[in-house]
Amino acid sequence: MEAIVIEGLTKKYKKNVALDNINLTVGQGEIFGFIGPNGAGKSTTIKCLLDFIKPTKGIAEIYGLDAQKDSESLKRIIGYVPSDVHYYNNVTVEEILKMTGKFHGIHNLKEMMAYYVERFELEPKKKMKELSLGNRKKVAIVNSLIFDPEVLILDEPTSGLDPLMQHRLFEELSYHHDEGTTIFLSTHNLHEVESFCTRTAFIRSGKILSVEEMETGHTPAKVVKLTGAALQVEALQAKGYRVLSRTDTDVSLLYQDSVKQLLTDLSFLEIDDVEIRNQNLEEKFLSLYDGGELHE
Ligand code: ADP
Repeated sequence: MEAIVIEGLTKKYKKNVALDNINLTVGQGEIFGFIGPNGAGKSTTIKCLLDFIKPTKGIAEIYGLDAQKDSESLKRIIGYVPSDVHYYNNVTVEEILKMTGKFHGIHNLKEMMAYYVERFELEPKKKMKELSLGNRKKVAIVNSLIFDPEVLILDEPTSGLDPLMQHRLFEELSYHHDEGTTIFLSTHNLHEVESFCTRTAFIRSGKILSVEEMETGHTPAKVVKLTGAALQVEALQAKGYRVLSRTDTDVSLLYQDSVKQLLTDLSFLEIDDVEIRNQNLEEKFLSLYDGGELHE
């Protein structure tokens, strides 16, 4: 069974289309990255999944349950970290975790609280109003992990965290992933999705531009830098090579096909030098978003 299924999801605010007919599936046990610039529609998607807002159209399901109709049941299996953490000002860290423990019937709450409070260096007696942004984020993180959720939905979980705490978070996420938790990670950070996610959806202006496998097993696009005095690359462009940059003596091309074909094509060119490397995710990201258009 798929863990998350989104079909034709659309959210309009008057004339502003925040989500435009998006489709996504996330497999059970996947670590799925969700990346895009500000205003792309990431939080709107998450809010629809959590039934914080009603979509204008479309379906969002988690473990076969409807995100809207079955939201009560879903609250029992989803751990959520919001991008902006808000709790009541006077409530303490300990009180929040105890409420979560009660709601989810955590049998070993004391032990779990002790573990996570130490891991994330929290002060249980502190009130929320006394905590910094990063410490509030850590409370939300612990609150989402402490009941071993089946699904974790994280909206910019590392924002406000120092590097050590970011590292601890990813250690904990890896542990939960190994235990079978499905993780949906919305972030601005390419490095996070590149090193941590199994697949990543790129979203922009409410539309999914592309869903990429992060693991090996497919051939990444190649960036081919050619040097030569009289480079004729028009024939290559006609074959689907994209010119990334060009000077009098150098041209960088993007190529996504078989390596054998690439070497054959290059053998027909008058070149002094060649450098071939895999396109990294940052370049992929920029090529998707560059110029405001989707480049196929
Ligand atoms: P992201 O999380 O990717 O930064 P959002 O999902 O928050 O993006 O926003 C997507 C779009 O929806 C943006 O254009 C944003 O301005 C718009 N939007 C979000 N919430 C509202 C709202 N309550 N009223 C009007 N427009 C909204």
